[in-house]
Order: sequence, then structure tokens, then C-alpha cells
Amino acid sequence: MNTVIAVIGLGHMGGPMAANLAAAGHRVLGFDLLPASLAAAAQHGVEAAPTAVEAAAQADVVLTMLPTGRHVLGLYQDGGLLAAARPGTLFLDCSTIDVADARAAHEAAADAGHTALDAPVSGGVVGAEAGTLTFMAGGSEEAFARAEPLLSVMGKKAVHCGAAGAGQAAKICNNMILGISMIAVGEAFVLGESLGLSHQALFDVASTASGQCWALSVNCPVPGPVPASPANHDYRPGFAAPLMAKDLGLAANAVRAGGIQAELGLRAAQLYAEFAEGPGAADDFSAIVRTIRQRSSSAQPEENGPGA
Ligand code: NAD
Repeated sequence: MNTVIAVIGLGHMGGPMAANLAAAGHRVLGFDLLPASLAAAAQHGVEAAPTAVEAAAQADVVLTMLPTGRHVLGLYQDGGLLAAARPGTLFLDCSTIDVADARAAHEAAADAGHTALDAPVSGGVVGAEAGTLTFMAGGSEEAFARAEPLLSVMGKKAVHCGAAGAGQAAKICNNMILGISMIAVGEAFVLGESLGLSHQALFDVASTASGQCWALSVNCPVPGPVPASPANHDYRPGFAAPLMAKDLGLAANAVRAGGIQAELGLRAAQLYAEFAEGPGAADDFSAIVRTIRQRSSSAQPEENGPGA
């Protein structure tokens, strides 16, 4: 049965996700504060709604794809979406937001008589356009079962990670691994350079040895070994550094709130925040290798060598 879906937030991700739902035969009512985003979605079968509330009032599912938890909670509560929707509407939030905000969104939806699922994504704009996203979901079995037919239109894989907030938790834990591992790979290449090791030699060894990881094998931060990696294309994203900084910031919030001794995660969040606000603002997150190299060339070698 075709579903009426309100999609609120038609930006880089929400726009193509809405287009894929419309192409699959669903009635999609879209809304975005930016008229240009609304007009672009309307070119792809999305009906432009005059307001988010009017879209939500007619929908079986309200899908949000917004920048932060503040936007999601703001629209749910003060923005009137929860109040306007028919009882039992599924509130499907695909934005990447704080775990605490996601849990608050679930609670507010339940209090208003609705069902909620947090379902952040990985796969970027390319995955959103191709309908090959991976969803990580948090909420009840029932909410996941209701969302699954829509998730399978927008993505190739959906994992039900657990109760409210579990999708966001999985997303930030995964991206904390990724942020730390990209810095580790960048540091290893810069150390290798100083020891006279070619990029290709280090890649050939580490990518088939215990240093193997996605940051090395797929998104290799130096040009050469992996032709499709952003390093070969002037570090055009890919996965933009400001998005990595955002996700690590969310991970750092959760680390601090939980009293977790995640020293590398916190340091990675700090390094990516500086990088994204400075030289990496428009780059793929792998470009952090250039900052590591630059800082290394201006640093003084330590006196204490081997055997000292
Ligand atoms: P974006 O900035 O392109 O889109 C967000 C849209 O929300 C904008 O068009 C904005 O106008 C709209 N918006 C903001 N407030 C609104 C409101 N009150 N009412 C209606 N519309 C409103 O961002 P994006 O890249 O599409 O990312 C969306 C979410 O997906 C973020 O949480 C991001 O972290 C996450 N994400 C992005 C990527 C990516 O590669 N871009 C990958 C994975 C996850």
C-alpha cells in the first residue's frame, strides 16, 4: 500500500531521499525553509507543502532530515508537528543528532500518541541519490517494521540496533572509530615519509596486514594507492570534514556524559573541530593528513633518539 510521507528538510540528503520515495510511487509532501530546495524537490515528484505542519497533518509518516537535534525537537514541539499529526503517525528521524535529543524526541512523540524511530544514515549524498544508504535504527520492533518498506526504497541495508536512540548511538560509535582511524592512517603515512618509506610500499603492507581499515583501503588519504579516493581529486568530498567534526562532537558529548575514558575519541573530536573550522572547511575528512604533515615539518625533533 502506498504511504503518504511528509519529508521535512530537503537538503543534500533529504532532497534525493524524498525523490526516491516519490519515484517508488508514494505520495510525498515536502517542506524546506529554503524555497530553492523545495523547488528542486518538486522537479522530482515531491508535492511542495505550504508549511511543515500542513504536510504532517496529512501524513502516515513524518520523515525529518535536518541539521541538528535542536531543529528536530523544535519542529516536533514548538513547530507543532506532533500536535498536528494524526494519532499513531510514525515519526522517522533520519538526521544525525545527539543520542539524548533522539531519546527526548521519542518521548515527546510517544506522549503525543505517536510512534518514533531514529534512523540516521551512512552513505552520503551519493548513497542518498542512488538509494543505497545504510540505516541504523532505534525504536520498537513495531516502528522498525513500519519503516522498513520505506527504508528499503532509500537504502540497501537497515539494521535495527535496539531501543530509542540506539540508531544514533551506533552512528556516533562507528564514526568515532572512523575519525580516530583516519588520523592514525594519516600519522602513519607522515611518519613513513620521514623514514623514507614510499606511500605505495606502506599501503601494500598495511592494507594486507593488521593495519588494514576503511580509512586506509578505501579512503586512502594520500594520492596514488587507491585511485578513487578523494586524495586523488584534490580532496573534494567524499565525506566532508565539517560533517566528521559534527559527528565526533556528538560522540564527545556522549563520552563526557557517560564518563567514558575515550581519550582518542575526545582528541579526534578536537583535531577535527580545528581542522573543519580552518583549512579543511571544504575538504574531505582525509585531508587532515596535510595538517599532520604541515605541523610535523614545523615541529622541532626531540633530542632523545633511540638508545638515549
Ligand atoms: P543540509 O543542510 O543540506 O539540509 C538540511 C535542510 O534542512 C536544509 O535544506 C534546511 O533548509 C532545512 N531546514 C532546517 N531547518 C528547517 C525547518 N525548521 N523546516 C524545514 N526545513 C528546515 O544537510 P544534509 O547534508 O542534508 O544533512 C542532513 C542530516 O543528515 C544532518 O543531520 C547530517 O549530519 C546528516 N548526514 C549528512 C550526510 C551528508 O553526506 N550530507 C551523511 C550522513 C548523514
